[in-house]
Amino acid sequence: MKTKVKQVNRDNFSRSEFEEASEILRSGGLVAFPTETVYGLGGDGLLSSAAEKIYAAKGRPSDNPLIIHISSMDDLTQLTDEVSEKANRLADAFWPGPLTMIFQKNDKVPYGTTGGLDTVAVRMPNHPIALELIRTSGVLIAAPSANTSGRPSPTKAEHVVEDLDGKIDMIIDGGEVGIGIESTIVDLTSEIPTILRPGYITKEMLEEVIGEVAIDQAILTKGVKDGLKPKAPGMKYKHYAPKGDLTLYKGLQSEVVDEINKDAAKKRAQNYKVGVIATEETKEMYDADYVMCIGSRNDEESIARHLYGILREFDHLEVKYIYGECFSKNNLGQAIMNRLLKAAGYHVVDVSGRERCDKDEI
Ligand code: AMP
Ligand code: MG
Repeated sequence: MKTKVKQVNRDNFSRSEFEEASEILRSGGLVAFPTETVYGLGGDGLLSSAAEKIYAAKGRPSDNPLIIHISSMDDLTQLTDEVSEKANRLADAFWPGPLTMIFQKNDKVPYGTTGGLDTVAVRMPNHPIALELIRTSGVLIAAPSANTSGRPSPTKAEHVVEDLDGKIDMIIDGGEVGIGIESTIVDLTSEIPTILRPGYITKEMLEEVIGEVAIDQAILTKGVKDGLKPKAPGMKYKHYAPKGDLTLYKGLQSEVVDEINKDAAKKRAQNYKVGVIATEETKEMYDADYVMCIGSRNDEESIARHLYGILREFDHLEVKYIYGECFSKNNLGQAIMNRLLKAAGYHVVDVSGRERCDKDEI
């Protein structure tokens, strides 16, 4: 299959630019498009055969359900008959935006889209291209991240081309995304609304609007090892992983820098290519083949935005060992550490004790 890449200016486009993509979606095909979180791989959320194509293109296990993207509250009534008061308040506060809510599904939503579950995940993205595509096509778009399953999520159209060229009908290139990590997922079918995946919208932000919110305990630990199973099926899979071996270091900044430099020197002496994920604050302090700055510790948003792009960059450079610093687990830091720990297969060195601890908690 030939994949067409179409450039669209997110700040200046006309409806007609979406006609071809809309036709593809209406006839059951696949179109990747930008959202404010990451690029999504879209297909008709009410059509099982489109979901099958999405799973095939991504190499994604079909028990890992898809998020359906909507452009209005009217769209929501097509997917679920049960929208609680709390859900309405969250929608008022955060939609369009990086928040996915889980509802009881109605009969229109095929099990092919929900991975066999009786619930459906829904989000209204805050991106002019994504919203226009949903409106023009009239399709409620099921869209997981537009990467090969297991690889870092795409934050630019080039990343989508890397993974999916030849496997999907079209990629809409609307430039780089703004947030860079996937949406927060909150389950509204449980008695206490529960976060199933941390993201840009934090627990504190949700609690300000609806009161008590829980966090699925399985996502705070290695989970599967402890016998806990994440409620979002996708969270149990290895994820976001670069090809090189990533290890994270926690402790005092100066000690972390020293330990990373020591370990990097050892690997370089063995002729391996070594990379370091540094911050604005530490980037001058490392000695490695490649030192990449992920952003400033004073600006967590910059760190989220650059995370996946840097992991992919190390793949291009064929770096064998990657060393990175840990971040605070507060606010957006929780989502950042959730992604980094998974990318590192939970390999964390605690420099104060200097043992490889494969720490469970984030
Ligand atoms: P992605 O589309 O790549 O961001 O992945 C979607 C995430 O949403 C995965 O972790 C899924 O397991 C999760 N998800 C989607 N639908 C549901 C649902 N009905 N219940 C729980 N988790 C869901
Ligand atoms: Mg994904």
